Amino acid sequence: LMRVENVSKTYKMGEVTVNALQNASFELYEGEFAVILGPSGSGKSTLLNILGGMDLPTEGKVFVNGKEITQYNDRQLTIYRRDQVGFVFQFYNLMGNLTARENVELATEICENALDIDEVMEQVGLGERKDHFPAQMSGGEQQRVAIARAVAKNPLVLLCDEPTGALDFKTGIMILSLLDKINKQYNKTILIITHNAAIGDMAHRVIKMRSGNIIEIKENTNPIPPERIEW
Ligand code: ATP
Ligand code: MG
Repeated sequence: LMRVENVSKTYKMGEVTVNALQNASFELYEGEFAVILGPSGSGKSTLLNILGGMDLPTEGKVFVNGKEITQYNDRQLTIYRRDQVGFVFQFYNLMGNLTARENVELATEICENALDIDEVMEQVGLGERKDHFPAQMSGGEQQRVAIARAVAKNPLVLLCDEPTGALDFKTGIMILSLLDKINKQYNKTILIITHNAAIGDMAHRVIKMRSGNIIEIKENTNPIPPERIEW
């Protein structure tokens, strides 16, 4: 589904240059649940932002379904982000002035392949909470809204940057179970980034990063169910 070829990213700030990502190469297969694991500052978000068309690499190529997104112009990138990628962030990034349902509606309005909003909201367990505002919901519920918003677009891939980072252990497990369910039920390709090694145990594949480098890619033949994760 996605092929990353020798991708590097250098940030230049005046005299200082930071090599955030160096020569990263890997593939993401359709329907898989993959985890990028690494400590703070190892380049995880940099990589995810490049995959999501939010940032361009300094070097290297990214292919999505055979198309090189790193050659796209701004307009093509906007459409790519809108129709082909669902994003989930650590702090949910919901619109505070819109209800849960309106948040999902806004994201899907102009999408090519959007799914039925109410059905997706049922699926993420928000059937009863559709008309609540973010401030009236717990962190876990807000993350469900963010997941509904990403899934309802029916994108090729869900890119999740520390989706459990702001949640307690139990709520985090519930969110991971939900993502696992979405992976299976919609056969949706999911990539999660985290610094929590335990989350790697539930993935089909774990891509380990250290200081801008991919240091290991490990296949899990027997991913454990999220409910059994311990951290
Ligand atoms: P965390 O777990 O803390 O989110 P991360 O693995 O996501 O960390 P990145 O955010 O990708 O790490 O950052 C990798 C390196 O690139 C860090 O040294 C960071 O300071 C630097 N960096 C990231 N974004 C920028 C930017 N916009 N401008 C300059 N430097 C940046
Ligand atoms: Mg990050």
